[in-house]
Amino acid sequence: MMKSINPTTGETINSFETYSEKGVEKIINAADKCWHSWQKTSFSHRSQIMQNLASLLKSKKEKLAHLMAIEMGKVKKEGIAEIEKCAWVCDYYAQNAESFLENELIKTEAKKSFVSYQPIGTILAVMPWNFPFWQVFRFAAPTIMAGNTAVLKHASNVPGCALEIEDLFREAGFPENVFRTLLIGSRQVENVIKHPAIKAVSLTGSTPAGKSVASIAGSVLKKCVLELGGSDPYLILKDANLEEAAKICATGRLLNAGQSCIAAKRFIVVDEVYFEFLEHFTHEMNEAHFGDPCDPETTMGPLAREDLRNELHNQVVDSVNKGAEVVIGGEIPNRKGAFYPPTILENIQPGMPAYDEELFGPVAAVIRVKDEKEAIKVANDTGFGLGAAVFTADIKKGENIAEIQLEAGCCFVNDFVKSDPRLPFGGIKESGYGRELSSFGIKEFMNAKTVVVK
Ligand code: NAP
Repeated sequence: MMKSINPTTGETINSFETYSEKGVEKIINAADKCWHSWQKTSFSHRSQIMQNLASLLKSKKEKLAHLMAIEMGKVKKEGIAEIEKCAWVCDYYAQNAESFLENELIKTEAKKSFVSYQPIGTILAVMPWNFPFWQVFRFAAPTIMAGNTAVLKHASNVPGCALEIEDLFREAGFPENVFRTLLIGSRQVENVIKHPAIKAVSLTGSTPAGKSVASIAGSVLKKCVLELGGSDPYLILKDANLEEAAKICATGRLLNAGQSCIAAKRFIVVDEVYFEFLEHFTHEMNEAHFGDPCDPETTMGPLAREDLRNELHNQVVDSVNKGAEVVIGGEIPNRKGAFYPPTILENIQPGMPAYDEELFGPVAAVIRVKDEKEAIKVANDTGFGLGAAVFTADIKKGENIAEIQLEAGCCFVNDFVKSDPRLPFGGIKESGYGRELSSFGIKEFMNAKTVVVK
C-alpha cells in the first residue's frame, strides 16, 4: 500500500494499492509493444501531441500545484512555476527533437557514411519526490520525442503525482502505453531493470540509490543515466557584491525548502568579507516565512516527510556536537507538520555532516577560508560534483574559476545554479553520470548507429 501523507498536517490524504508482479509485467509488455509502432511515427506527429501536453499542463497548473502542495509540501507559487517549466521542456523538445537527431554525414572513403540516431525501446525512469513533475518531464519529453516509450517508478510518497502524470500523457493524445506509471516500491525495481523489454534506466535520486540501480543495470549490461545528490559550494570572493550575493545565496538555499539537488549547500567565504557576508546572509535567511504551502503569504513549506526532517535535524545536531555553531535556527519547531526553520551553521570542519554530507533541507553550512585559493580547494573537497557558483565582480576571473577550477557539472557566476531545457544538466563524481536536457539529453537513450555505403 502506498500513502499520500500531507506533510503540513501529517494526515493521510489517499492510499493506493501497489501493483502486483503480474500487473507490472503486463504494463512493461504493453509499453514494449507500443514502442514498435511509436518509433515509426513521424517527428511532426509526436511534436503535435507533445505540444498538446504542454498546453494541458498550462491549463491545469493550479490543480497540479495544489496536488504537490498537499502531497509533498511545495509552496503553491513554486509548484505553478514547476508546471510552467514542464510545459517549456515539452514545447522545447517538440520544436527541437528532429533537428537534434538529424543524420550526421561524415566524410570517409565510402560513397556515403553517416550517423543515424535510432530509439532503443522502453526506458525505466526511477524518480524522486522533490520536483515530482519536473524530474519526470525533463526525462520523458526528450525520451518520448525520440521515439522511445517510458515506464515510471516514482518515489513512494508521491503516488498521486505519479498517476496524474500518466493521465496527462493519455489526455494529451499519446497512445495508451507510450508513458506508463508503475506503483511499486524500490525493492521491485531490480526485476523491472532485469526485464528483457526494459532497455535502459534513468535514475534521479540519492547517491546510494544510484549505486544500487547502477550495479543491477551493470549486471545485465543496461545503460543508465544517474542524476544524484550534491553539496554545491558557493564561493564568496572579496570583491563580490555582498548584499546581492547574500540574497541569491539565500534564495538558492531555501527554494523548495532546501530540498533540491542543486541547492546552494556550502557557502565558502573569504576571510576579509566573512562577517559582512554573514550579516547580510543571516538577514536574508530570516526573511523566509514558513508555513502552509497553500497560503499565499508562505515562502517556505514543510519538508516532504517527517522522517526526512528528523534525519536533517540529526545531521545538524551531529555537526554541532562536533563543534559547529548555530547562527540561526537549528531547532525543530513546536508545531504540527514536517517543518524545519532556515538554519545557518558556522565553524564548519571536515568530519562534520555539514561539511561531508548533503544537507537536504534549509540548512546552510558557512565555511570561513583564508583566500580564493583555499576557497577553491574547499569547494572541491567533496565526493559530490553537481553544481557550484562563484560570486565576484571580476567576471573574467569568475569565468575561469567556473570553467577550469571547480569540479562540477554545472558552474554559475554570480547566480544560483538552475536547470534549463537548453543547457545540459548533470554531475560528475558521486553526483552521477550522463546528461539530461539540451541536445545531450535526447541522445542518451539512442543508438548512435553508423551506416556506411560502399
Ligand atoms: P531516494 O531515496 O534515492 O529516492 C529516489 C527514487 O529512487 C525513489 O523513487 C525511490 O523509491 C528510489 N529508490 C531508492 N532506493 C532505491 C534502491 N535501492 N533501488 C531502486 N530504487 C530506489 O531519493 P529522494 O529522497 O527521493 O530524493 C532526494 C535525493 O535525490 C537527494 O540526494 C537529491 O540530491 C537527489 N536528486 C538529484 C537530482 C539531480 O538531478 N542530480 C535531482 C533531484 C534530486 P522509494 O521512494 O520507493 O524509496
